[in-house]
Amino acid sequence: MSDQLQTPIEYLKGVGPNRAQLLRRELGISTYADLLQFFPTRYIDRTKYYKIAELRNTMAEVQIIGKIVHLKTIEGKRGQNRLTATFVDDTGQLELVWFKGQKWIRDTIKINVPMVVFGKINQFGNQVNMAHPEMEPLDQHQQQLRSALQAVYPSTENLSKKNITSRVVSNMMQNLFLETGGNFAETLPDYQIEQMNLMKKPDALFNIHFPKSNEHLAKAQFRLKFEELFYIQVRLLMNNLIRKHKIQGHAFTVVGDYFNAFYHRHLPFELTDAQKRVIREIRNDMATNAQMNRLLQGDVGSGKTIVALMSMLIALDNGFQSCLMAPTEILANQHFRGLSDLANGLGINIKLLTGSTKTAERKLIHEELITGKLHILIGTHALLEDKVQFENLGLAVIDEQHRFGVEQRSKLWKKSEIPPHVLVMTATPIPRTLAMSLYGDLDVSVIDELPPGRKPIQTVHRYDSNRLKVWKFLKDEIAKGRQVYIVYPLIQESEKMDFKDLMDGYESISRDFPLPQYSVSMVHGQMKPAEKDAEMERFSQGKTNIMVATTVIEVGVNVPNASVMVIESAERFGLSQLHQLRGRVGRGAEQSYCILMTSFKLSSDTQTRLETMVRTNDGFEIAEVDLKLRGPGDLMGTQQSGVLNLRIADIVRDRDILQLARNVALKLLKEDAPLVKPEHAIVAKVYHELTRKSNIWNYIS
Ligand code: ADP
Ligand code: MG
Repeated sequence: MSDQLQTPIEYLKGVGPNRAQLLRRELGISTYADLLQFFPTRYIDRTKYYKIAELRNTMAEVQIIGKIVHLKTIEGKRGQNRLTATFVDDTGQLELVWFKGQKWIRDTIKINVPMVVFGKINQFGNQVNMAHPEMEPLDQHQQQLRSALQAVYPSTENLSKKNITSRVVSNMMQNLFLETGGNFAETLPDYQIEQMNLMKKPDALFNIHFPKSNEHLAKAQFRLKFEELFYIQVRLLMNNLIRKHKIQGHAFTVVGDYFNAFYHRHLPFELTDAQKRVIREIRNDMATNAQMNRLLQGDVGSGKTIVALMSMLIALDNGFQSCLMAPTEILANQHFRGLSDLANGLGINIKLLTGSTKTAERKLIHEELITGKLHILIGTHALLEDKVQFENLGLAVIDEQHRFGVEQRSKLWKKSEIPPHVLVMTATPIPRTLAMSLYGDLDVSVIDELPPGRKPIQTVHRYDSNRLKVWKFLKDEIAKGRQVYIVYPLIQESEKMDFKDLMDGYESISRDFPLPQYSVSMVHGQMKPAEKDAEMERFSQGKTNIMVATTVIEVGVNVPNASVMVIESAERFGLSQLHQLRGRVGRGAEQSYCILMTSFKLSSDTQTRLETMVRTNDGFEIAEVDLKLRGPGDLMGTQQSGVLNLRIADIVRDRDILQLARNVALKLLKEDAPLVKPEHAIVAKVYHELTRKSNIWNYIS
């Protein structure tokens, strides 16, 4: 059976060498199997036949039974003739029109023979017509291996040119089923088919191409999508198992005094349920002697810091050091302060190491690290330097993962004999669906709940022409004691134009908000780290009212009194970046605002981005929209991911099936990772076939 499916496509009836070449070039179809897996993009309902009297302009494609009674050529301007036919049924008449291929139509059309015509109708006043209909004699129509719903296959310009229409592909498919008998091998275990009431493989393949009904189609789609996602998950999870098996980690078996002291006596607030769940997940991971490799996702302000700290306390309880690496000095500073405050009174030695750490302090840190006196080290890339040697690094926390390359991460690993557990924290809300298909081999924890009492940020979109009103609003807020961010796009810190915009902006803001009533800070990428920090510090302490900045403040900065975020040229920012920026406000008790300033000319994608920002504060929802707008290929870290190569499933629309597929795959591998049980023989076979065809899996590694 499967041998037959490897037959080159040119041997299929109705194909031949020329079409085979086109199919190969345009669609990558070179065998029967490839054609079989070329799935329709939509279906046309052909269960219904309309009467001419029922036709309305608003209908999509319709089919009608009737006959052609009259044919004529109508001469148009500049020799552009058209051929028309009068088509009648017992309720009225309809005009069929052809602008092209008129000779062929004239020669083949049968007058007064019952026909089925199919197409889109147009109405002009009382006149209805149908241009370039599909036509078929009624008797032939009734004999077709035809389903109620007719498949529409994707096409390309070159295929259309050669007249390989969806209809032609459908005919090839029909020949394929006739020739092979359609009795294809099953690819999922029987018990899964039974338990989930899945359609069997041969039925699913038949119904995806020739659905017998809407219900059959839905079941066929479900089955095939599930199968596709299931095998991707099996593969990803298998990679994960292999990695865990290969890489030994430290087993943190105890939860001891530091953790408990903190939990019972030093918690500044009640943890959210999501935080508790995530801490449990991390604890379970680190308790085994497999190395943890976990991604912690949480929207801005969801409280990842305390999760990091509590994870580090577990390491400490087991006699190990931890480090936390942040992408910028500002953030490292902030983490240092935040964690030191939280851990105050626990008797933990926490230190900060960045590019601007003084030599004496640096020496002390190096010493304390190697002797084990230092428990937690926080810092920037400076942590990666060779001189930084730990006594026993047990846990490395990395904030904002996308700014660090894999290489840098592996440098951290090499700082101890046995690699530390790794916790990567990110506020970039990768949609869960995507995370699951991309990082199936990385464990993912999600904080999907904000601490209680947060007031949702109000977001508005304003045009540049409304700037006076916006400025008035800022003045009112500042009068109430609030602080304001005004952010300019500086995608590349080196772009001269952007820099000029920023400077011009700063000047005009300084003019509009003059001293001594107001004071304005500025931070941008061309400043020295120390200058930046000093300026950030002034704003943080409330000494200035307005912070004019570039996206350097995008990640992490925490100034609870800042309650207004103005984003200039918002049309130039991506959706996730806008969301990150907005996350800088809404951190205090006050109502916060985000104002998106743009010019008048906006593309429709930009409008969608702005509308989405105005509508919702939910980072995951925003990420889903982003995914739809840009496709997963553009999302952070997914550049060469082939998630788009899915044949039938769609990670955005089919997230429930993905979740199911993942759970089923997890359960299966938990019970039988080597895939040796007889009932998993099919899974083993398909899995090995898929891994052999490594091209399918390119995107995962
Ligand atoms: P992020 O996930 O963006 O790093 P942080 O860890 O900085 O978030 O937390 C944001 C703010 O919320 C901090 O001021 C923190 O003290 C506070 N916070 C975190 N968890 C809770 C909680 N469970 N209840 C109340 N406030 C919390
Ligand atoms: Mg943070």
